[in-house]
Amino acid sequence: MANPSLLILAGDGIGPEVMAEVKKIIRWFDAKRGITFDVSEDLVGGCAYDAHGTPLTDATMAKAQSVDAVLLGAVGGPKYDKLDFSVKPERGLLRLRKEMDLFSNLRPAQCFDALADFSSLKKEVVAGLDIVIVRELTSGVYFGEPRGIFTEGNERVGINTQRYTESEIARVARSAFELARKRNNKVCSMEKANVMESGILWREVVQEIHDKEYPDVELSHMYADAGAMQLCRWPKQFDVIVTDNLFGDLLSDMAAMLTGSLGMLPSASLGLPMSNGRPKALYEPVHGSAPDIAGQGKANPIACILSFAMALRYSFNLGDDATRVETAVEKVLADGVRTADLMGPAGGTPVTTSQMGDAVIAALDASL
Ligand code: NAD
Repeated sequence: MANPSLLILAGDGIGPEVMAEVKKIIRWFDAKRGITFDVSEDLVGGCAYDAHGTPLTDATMAKAQSVDAVLLGAVGGPKYDKLDFSVKPERGLLRLRKEMDLFSNLRPAQCFDALADFSSLKKEVVAGLDIVIVRELTSGVYFGEPRGIFTEGNERVGINTQRYTESEIARVARSAFELARKRNNKVCSMEKANVMESGILWREVVQEIHDKEYPDVELSHMYADAGAMQLCRWPKQFDVIVTDNLFGDLLSDMAAMLTGSLGMLPSASLGLPMSNGRPKALYEPVHGSAPDIAGQGKANPIACILSFAMALRYSFNLGDDATRVETAVEKVLADGVRTADLMGPAGGTPVTTSQMGDAVIAALDASL
């Protein structure tokens, strides 16, 4: 059987620095676990613009469509701020998400015990937290028509349209229920059915998909504003939260920050299954290219490493190996290894990006 294929798009700023540590782990899997990935690499974002005058070439797009999974670092930087909107680095990322039709965005919020003091919430509220927000990513108010700024009489009016079809709701609901079955079997769906028709339809369709296809999964519904309160009050009541594009944008950022540093947060964006049964998939850290620390060896590679762990779990069906990577990260943190972003008020000497990667490798070695 062919090896699983992976396209690495390291991108700009700290992207290549954190990706270098993931490549160490990919080599570790080859050498120590006999799991070999066919890895290819290409350009995205500002570096692609520098080389080709576009943030994503058609050839790279075609490659992304043909591999089992894409792993992306980060794009952007001040050098590109003045470029025309159509060739800005972020357009490369948006093109990938759109053309791969990555409608289901998984944003875990997991609090490692060793970092529970970093949260703005009390330690007992966040310690051991492990939830995933599933955000619909390709429809809703960010895409609905009509949209624009128009003139009505003698004033301007700004319009955006929230629009969801049944099939768009159904496919993201299925994605959430499938995920819940691999976790603690609980889904909470969030919308505003009290004031929005699209919310009423959302609630009905999620309930129908549940009753017909996933009756074994525990389903609850919550208004998104109440959900935001509950996420702050007692986030551990949740397992999987499924919600639309707009509410998901807000709730996933909020949930993520419950757990501390931006350098810790992975994400996955999934589409429909390909002919080999694997979903179209893009894995990336939540953080950006961090130009303020790029090139200094200060970046925390854990978000990117945990994104690779998500690829192991969701694209390659290697759940045990994903857990192995996550446990290695947990051990390293418990041992007090910290990049600069994870230094508490007590201070200490931070490790470099590369030293953090090496520490994870050592913990992986110890796991054998
Ligand atoms: P950012 O995430 O790059 O940085 C925000 C802050 O967090 C900075 O102080 C940075 O040093 C720190 N930080 C981020 N990742 C870190 C890591 N791994 N380790 C340690 N510290 C880390 O966000 P920004 O500053 O708003 O944006 C910088 C550039 O990145 C912009 O061009 C923006 O458009 C782009 N961006 C790209 C993505 C992406 O590629 N998905 C996401 C967000 C922003």
